[in-house]
Amino acid sequence: MPEAACYRKVDLHSHSNFSDGRLSPTELVDLAVEQGVTLFSLTDHDTLDGLPEARQRAKEHQLSFLNGVELSTQWKGIPLHMVALNFDPNNAALLSIVQKNQHIRLDRARCIADLLVKQGLPDLFDEAVALAGNSQLGRPHFATLMVEKGLVKDANKAFDRYLGNKRLGSLRDVWPELDVVLGMLKDENMALILAHPKRYPLTVTKLKRLLADFKAWGGTAMEVASGNERPDHVRLMERLSQEFALNASVGSDYHGPFGPWTQVGRFTQIHESEVDLVWRDWV
Ligand code: AMP
Ligand code: MN
Ligand code: MN
Ligand code: MN
Repeated sequence: MPEAACYRKVDLHSHSNFSDGRLSPTELVDLAVEQGVTLFSLTDHDTLDGLPEARQRAKEHQLSFLNGVELSTQWKGIPLHMVALNFDPNNAALLSIVQKNQHIRLDRARCIADLLVKQGLPDLFDEAVALAGNSQLGRPHFATLMVEKGLVKDANKAFDRYLGNKRLGSLRDVWPELDVVLGMLKDENMALILAHPKRYPLTVTKLKRLLADFKAWGGTAMEVASGNERPDHVRLMERLSQEFALNASVGSDYHGPFGPWTQVGRFTQIHESEVDLVWRDWV
């Protein structure tokens, strides 16, 4: 039996309240342990700030923990997320990308608020900033406020009508280009993982173009399961990971007990023996 076989419960994609998740890093790690997870990563959007707390709590539980982050980027005008794992939190290139994205988040939030005002909604900027506090400000904060004020029925409606990529117009394209981000990070000793490939508005032909670019620019892995996708979708991602020589990663993308998210440690089963697991070298 390979050593990795004892890591039955791996979750390498999750969010705390340092970005748009509900739980603190401590609460999140406690939940991961409760769910039987044995290898875990916190991957908040564009911030490393929750990692020390999560790492400390993981240590208290003797849970294997990897530093993680989910970076916002774009490819051919399409917003894409990539997860970086297993890095030194003082990595200068990574810190500069994170810092840049944090500025973009604030500027973009101002523009999103203006866009909503143009559509007849109140100016939500100050309240969104206050609601986010120390966490990375994002569209979910606007969605929460819109629900609270009775402007929409639920967060899904807020994204459908106002905040989704289709509604954002040119505000979709604010993130750094994927080739630039990968170029800055690729010589570092970390996994560079394309997050939830099935969630982008891409045909399989276009997704293959993305994967070819991702690999050529220094990407090392892709998520093959990141929630409750259909098994045939996971199958396809597994085949593509082999075709493009990208390691396979998995995660729940847990944000909290709301919306479409699965529980920590839960995602559609993968065929571990048929892919190259991204965590194989770390266990
Ligand atoms: P941002 O980081 O500001 O671009 O916001 C993206 C985040 O919004 C994602 O990471 C999800 O957590 C959340 N999100 C995206 N689509 C939806 C949706 N339809 N309903 C609720 N939350 C969503
Ligand atoms: Mn999110
Ligand atoms: Mn994402
Ligand atoms: Mn995520």
